[in-house]
Amino acid sequence: MIHGQDSESAWWTTHPWRLIQTNLREIDMADIDADEYVRQLIGFDATIAMINVGGIIASYPTDLDDHFQSPYLGGDSLERIIDACHAAGIRVIARTDFSKIRRPVYDRHPDWAFRTAAGDIVDYNGDVHACLNGGYQQVYAKLIIQEIVTKLAIDGIFFNMGGFVGRDYSYVDYGACHCDACAKRFRDEYGHEIPPADAAPSAVTRAFDRARRKWGSEHRRSVHDLIKGLRRDVAVDGYDFQRQESNTEIDRPLPRWQYDASSNTRWVRTSMPETISSNTSVDFIGFFYRHVAVSPAQQELRLWQNLANGGGIDYYLIGRLDNHRDRSGFDRIRTVFQFHRENQEIYRGLVADADVLLVRSSHHPTGEERGWIRFLTEGHFAFAEALVDALADDADPPLATVDLSRYRCVVLPDLRAIPDGVAVRIDRFVADGGVLIATGLSGTEDADREPRARPLPESLGVERIESVRTDMRSAMFEVRPAAALDADGGDYPSLTDTDLLFFGDTYVYAHYSAGGVGALRLIPPHPYGPPERCYYAQITDRPGYVVTRRGAGRSIYLPWLPGALFHREGYVNTSRFIYDLLTSVAGVDAIATNAPPMVEITVQRPLARDPDGSAESCVVSLTNASGHFASTVYDAVELRDIRVTVAFDGAPTRAVSLRTGRAVRFDSGDGRVTLHLDTVGIAEVVRIVSKRATTGAVAGNAAERT
Ligand SMILES: [Zn+2]
Repeated sequence: MIHGQDSESAWWTTHPWRLIQTNLREIDMADIDADEYVRQLIGFDATIAMINVGGIIASYPTDLDDHFQSPYLGGDSLERIIDACHAAGIRVIARTDFSKIRRPVYDRHPDWAFRTAAGDIVDYNGDVHACLNGGYQQVYAKLIIQEIVTKLAIDGIFFNMGGFVGRDYSYVDYGACHCDACAKRFRDEYGHEIPPADAAPSAVTRAFDRARRKWGSEHRRSVHDLIKGLRRDVAVDGYDFQRQESNTEIDRPLPRWQYDASSNTRWVRTSMPETISSNTSVDFIGFFYRHVAVSPAQQELRLWQNLANGGGIDYYLIGRLDNHRDRSGFDRIRTVFQFHRENQEIYRGLVADADVLLVRSSHHPTGEERGWIRFLTEGHFAFAEALVDALADDADPPLATVDLSRYRCVVLPDLRAIPDGVAVRIDRFVADGGVLIATGLSGTEDADREPRARPLPESLGVERIESVRTDMRSAMFEVRPAAALDADGGDYPSLTDTDLLFFGDTYVYAHYSAGGVGALRLIPPHPYGPPERCYYAQITDRPGYVVTRRGAGRSIYLPWLPGALFHREGYVNTSRFIYDLLTSVAGVDAIATNAPPMVEITVQRPLARDPDGSAESCVVSLTNASGHFASTVYDAVELRDIRVTVAFDGAPTRAVSLRTGRAVRFDSGDGRVTLHLDTVGIAEVVRIVSKRATTGAVAGNAAERT
C-alpha cells in the first residue's frame, strides 16, 4: 500500500509544517546517502522534505520514453530516500518542473516547444521551454505525474514555474508563446489571432491576457483533479499548500521588500484559509549565485514573519544540506525551526486579529500595495490581506469568500480591476457602516480589465475620471487651513509643524458624487529653480482626498498614489499623513505601543475557543526588522522597555515569553492587557492565557522552563 493512502488523507492539516527544500542538482543523486540525508533533516527539526523527482529530469527509473532519465542515479534511490524520511516521520513533497524539456525530447517533439513571435524556440543550456498548451504539458506531463504519484510514496507535489513561462534564468523575456497550439486555441475560443508583442492595449490584447489566465487556471485544476483521482492523500501545491518565495536577486530595483514573508503569508491565510502557507526563505542571493547565501539575519527574519502571520516555515537551498558550502544561514534556520518544534501545538489553528483588510490584485504586490503594507505595519495597525478574487461571492476554491463584516476598514490600493459582484459587496460593507479607503484608479476596470465609464464601487463617490496627470512633480497639497474643506473635522495630529504634503507625479482629476467633501488643496506644479523663482502663486480647490457618506459608512478616496510614493521615497511626510487619515478620519485604532515603526506586531488567537468559554489565550508577536539598514539586513537592534497593549477578554493569569520561557510582566483591565517587555531582540513571542488554559499541556511546555 502506498504510504498514507486514505487512512491519513489530508495529513497536512495536522502535520507541523517545517519544510526544507533541497533543490538537488542532478549530480547530487550520484552519491546521495539516504540515512545521511535524513540525519541532516532531523538536525534541523524539519518535518517535510521537498526533493526533485521529475519533469525536466527523472530522478528515479522511469518507464516513460520522453521523461528524460537522469544519468546520475548512482547514490541511494529516491524510493529508499522517501522510505528513510517516512521512517523518521518526515513527509516528502515531490518537486516537479514541466516548464522545460531536455533537447533530445524536443528533437523528437518539436511541437511541444514554446515559440516566440518569430517562431523560434528558447533553448537554455540544453533545456527547451515547453508551452502550456502544447502536447507535453497538456498530455505527456500528466503521464509523468501519474507515474510519480502511483510509483513513489510521495506525500505532496509541487510544480515549479507552472503556467506560461516567457523568461529564462538570465531574465531574457521572450513575450507570449506563439506556438500553433496557442494560436489555434485562441482562434477557436476567442476568434482572434494572437496580437503582436508590441500591440497597443486593446480588446484583443486584453482577451489574450484573459485567455492565458483562464488556460493556466484550467490546467492547474485538471492536474489537481488528476492527482486527487489517483491519491487523495497527496498534498497539491496551490490547493492544499501554497508555496511562495522570499527571495532576492542581483540588479533587482531597490528598495528591498522587507515584508515579503509577512505579506506572502498574510494573503494566503485570509484568501485561502484552508490552505497551508509555505513561504520559503531562499538561501541564495539570486539565480547567478545559487551557492552563496543572503544575510543570516535576513533568513531568520523571514521565518519569524511567517510564524507571526500564521504560516508554516520553509527553507530552500540549492543542493543537499550535507554538501552545501555556504552554511552561514544554518544556525538561524535551526533556531526558528527548533522554536516551532517546541511550540507547535500553540501555533495550531491561530488566526491573526485584523481591523483593516488590504485588497490586492495578485500574488505579487504592486508598489502602491507595498506602500500600504508598510503604512499599516509600521503604524501598528492590525490588518489582513486578500486577493480581490477572494472578495467574490462565488470565489473559486481554494479561494474562500472573505467575510467583510469582520473588518472596520477596507483599503483598495490603486486596485484597478474590480469585478462587478465584488463592487456590490463593498457597497454593502460601506452601507452597513464600514469605511472604504481607495487610491488612484481603483475600480476603473471590470473583471475582464475592460475600462469602465464610471469607477466602481459606487460608494467610492467618483462619478467619472476627467484625466490623469503624471507630470505633477513639484506639486503639493496644502494641509491647512483645513476648516473649509476638511471632512468630519478630521485633524492631522502628526502634521502640526508642517502645512505641506508632497504627493509625487500622479494626480487623478475626478468628478465626484454630490455630497462628497474634499480635504486638502492642490498646489499645482510650479518653478523649482533658480531659488529666486521657487514659489507658487496658485492654490486650487482640487482635493487631496474626498470623504463620501453612504448609509452608515463612508469612503475616503485619494486621487494620488501614497503607497507607491512611500514605497519608493519613504519620507515620513507621507506615512504620518496616512496614520492620521487612518486614525482621525477612518476611525481605526492602532495597537497601543511604544515600539518603533520597525517592529511588526501581530496578535493571533485560537480559532476554536474552549467550549465553556472560560479559557482565553492569544499569542503576541513582535518581529523586529530594525536590522534592515539601507540594502543590508543586520542583526536587529535590541530594544528595551517595550510596552504593547492588546485586547483580551477574561482575566489573564499569566504571560510567558515563548522565546525564553520566562514570565512577562503585565497589567490588565477593561478588556485589555499591557505587556511590559524588558528586551526585544529579532523576535519576541508572548503567550497570554487566562486561568483554564494555563493548566493545559500546551502552556506547561513553556512554563516548565521558568
Ligand atoms: Zn504555445
